[in-house]
Amino acid sequence: MADLTQLGVAAIRDGVAKGDFTAVEVAEAFNANVAAAAALNAFIVTTPDAALAAARATDARRAAGQPLGTMGGVPIGMKDLFATRGVQTTAASHILEGFTPEYESTVSQKLWDAGAGMLGKLNLDQFAMGSSNETSYFGNVISPWRRSDGGNAPLAPGGSSGGSSAAVAARLCPAATGTDTGGSIRQPAAFTGISGIKPTYGRCSRWGIVAFASSLDQAGPMARDVRDCAIMLEAMAGFDPKDATSLDMPVPEWEAGLSGDMKGKKVGIPREYRVDGLDPDVAASWDQGIAWLKDAGAEVVDISLPHTKYALPAYYIIAPAEASSNLARYDGVRYGLRDLPDGAGLQDMYAATRAAGFGPEVKRRILIGTYVLSAGFYDAYYTQAQKVRTLIAHDFKNAFTQVDVILTPTAPTAAFGLGDMVSDPLAMYLNDVFAVPASLAGLPAMSVPAGLNREGLPLGLQVIGREFDEQGVLNAGLAIEARAQFSAKPERWW
Ligand code: GLN
Repeated sequence: MADLTQLGVAAIRDGVAKGDFTAVEVAEAFNANVAAAAALNAFIVTTPDAALAAARATDARRAAGQPLGTMGGVPIGMKDLFATRGVQTTAASHILEGFTPEYESTVSQKLWDAGAGMLGKLNLDQFAMGSSNETSYFGNVISPWRRSDGGNAPLAPGGSSGGSSAAVAARLCPAATGTDTGGSIRQPAAFTGISGIKPTYGRCSRWGIVAFASSLDQAGPMARDVRDCAIMLEAMAGFDPKDATSLDMPVPEWEAGLSGDMKGKKVGIPREYRVDGLDPDVAASWDQGIAWLKDAGAEVVDISLPHTKYALPAYYIIAPAEASSNLARYDGVRYGLRDLPDGAGLQDMYAATRAAGFGPEVKRRILIGTYVLSAGFYDAYYTQAQKVRTLIAHDFKNAFTQVDVILTPTAPTAAFGLGDMVSDPLAMYLNDVFAVPASLAGLPAMSVPAGLNREGLPLGLQVIGREFDEQGVLNAGLAIEARAQFSAKPERWW
């Protein structure tokens, strides 16, 4: 039989439904790839039995002539930020080590209800804070990609969903969940030559996802192509009364609505994204993307998003502020780790637990967050950042009176080397410069692979859409995908 791990979501779903192969055969093939890829450190926990159990259920339903679900027979990786009943959920932090939820996140439950199975819990930056996966307590993920000319220097898979991106790129799973607060689906997708979409804020329930910055956090799919993302997003999205910010709107049939025809569509090219020192390969791939969308029938329009340069500073106030509040709950009483020094009181236990449990990047963000929220500085920082956020949202609103979607590079560079950015957090933060504005505005945005740079590493293009217009984003992504014909994959070394 052909190697089933080369198939994506749609091909597996259709093949299982037709009886070309069984769901159990698919699960076994991916379980084997997962077991053979420990060197990538993409998974914190593997759950081969869960994948097999879901596959058996799918095969039994097929035998009984029952419907299989839109993800029927598809095993996936679950970012370890989603609470999974009975399976350790850590957010890649020591403070949650050993925490086994009694409940299931809404998004993961929806995926199981659609027939998917779980191969394991994927590594990430600790509490989803980072762009390289190097802040995980469980060690960094190593990208399956290598530079074609640069020796064997290990590369970052992007972050924070770097376990997800590495696992999909290395064919350890056909798709994985990601979450995106300021680029964590799109940037790792770009670094590893896969697709990923962050939907409109509120499309996917945040219930049961470990909170980072609640006004920004959104779940979304990471998969090989646009169609697979559409299928999986349909399964993940939907109103949830358990999340007060959940969108009470029907979930469109995004897969059925896919069309790469851009005739009559206008694509905006924001001039502020031509930042100084933009990598020449990234600039060239952006130009190529513009040409592809013209070829697909679109009209290309220069636009201005004047407040772009304030997006990163605003994000790095708002996100830490919300994180400092969200992470106050990890106190040694309710979840995971408890450090109780001899003879200690309650305050000592809080301090000892948090000192031992949080990594340096998480502590940095908590300190920044509490500082910008403190009485003397609240207006100067937090209120100001919220005003900037509104201006950025207005920039997009204005732009979307002229255009249907916006095209930009996903990240200013291709994957960087592990360790290259660790000593300079600000340089790391800069890698999110193109991703963060759409997050602050709550807009749907997607990364699709556009080609390889001169070092043989993938580059991604980002499509940003109007709120609720995931379809427009997916369709522009499809138009690019059809022309990029991206088929490169990492050569197996692990
Ligand atoms: N890299 C960004 C950060 O560190 C975004 C992370 C994310 O989207 N979760 O905050």
